[in-house]
Amino acid sequence: DDMDVDTIWMDGEFVDWDDAQIHVLSHGLHYGTGVFEGARCYDTEEGPAIFRWEEHLDRLFASTKPYDMEIPFSREELSEATLELIRRQNLESCYIRPIAFFGYHALGVSPGECPTDVAIAAWPWGTYLGEEALENGIDVMVSSWRKHASSQIPTNAKTTGLYVNSLLAGEEARRNGYREAIVLNKEGNVAEGPGENIFLVRDGEIFTPGLSESILDGITRNTVITLAEERGYEVHDNVSISRGELNTADELFFTGSAAEVTPIKRVDNVTIGNGSRGPVTEELQQAFFDLVERRTDDHDDWFTYV
Ligand code: PMP
Repeated sequence: DDMDVDTIWMDGEFVDWDDAQIHVLSHGLHYGTGVFEGARCYDTEEGPAIFRWEEHLDRLFASTKPYDMEIPFSREELSEATLELIRRQNLESCYIRPIAFFGYHALGVSPGECPTDVAIAAWPWGTYLGEEALENGIDVMVSSWRKHASSQIPTNAKTTGLYVNSLLAGEEARRNGYREAIVLNKEGNVAEGPGENIFLVRDGEIFTPGLSESILDGITRNTVITLAEERGYEVHDNVSISRGELNTADELFFTGSAAEVTPIKRVDNVTIGNGSRGPVTEELQQAFFDLVERRTDDHDDWFTYV
């Protein structure tokens, strides 16, 4: 591997990276029946610290609910395994990927007796959309693919199968020369990115699609709403945003554990605001990085120190 890591935690044991294998007839491979998380551990003055790990664990367990999937490990076991994985590999900052999926038993769509297999990996992962993107913003395209409606598949559960839609939208955008996509929901309103939530700034107020817009309840979304409110902004987080509002926004940005806070400078080649990172985006991005890298002692309860 080229990720400078050698260990994966799998079904209760630490195994060599190359040995972390599953059967080709695993249910999750055939039907997309896995639930997963993506969290970041930041290199802080007090050592590595996982940002909002408890909320990621909450969401992991919540994602199993619609699938009646039982993770055969406790929260504490998963947490201890993750911390140990980071320590063993001497990682300072890293991305953390826990996954639970229906494994190998029989190949009916009904998972029946399939075991729930669980694995956790952690590896160094730089900026998701590029360092330059954080500063100057990215070009995005409104995808021709619509997001699954939450009446078709629970979009608030972070399920592996959902990401086929993310791939279609993201690759369509990249084939057309854009860095990322914006995906509309079935009603044609703005939902989110393939792996990001979206925010809009207009006249000094902040807007983000509500949870009923078929989005993932993003942990970074929640963080940015909190940071914005603490700084006195009016945040409208239970609204529908029409496609046209993207073009007339003063500022737009994506949030996500991987994408962090990434400005959007153009949508379908229409320049947003003055075509660079806007002042509100910059303030919240700065607040976000000050927080996660612990240049402030605010919200210490959001950190799990390794
Ligand atoms: N929406 C989707 C579809 C995602 O995959 C992600 C990344 N998990 C997000 C939003 C952002 O969520 P979070 O801030 O919790 O990473």
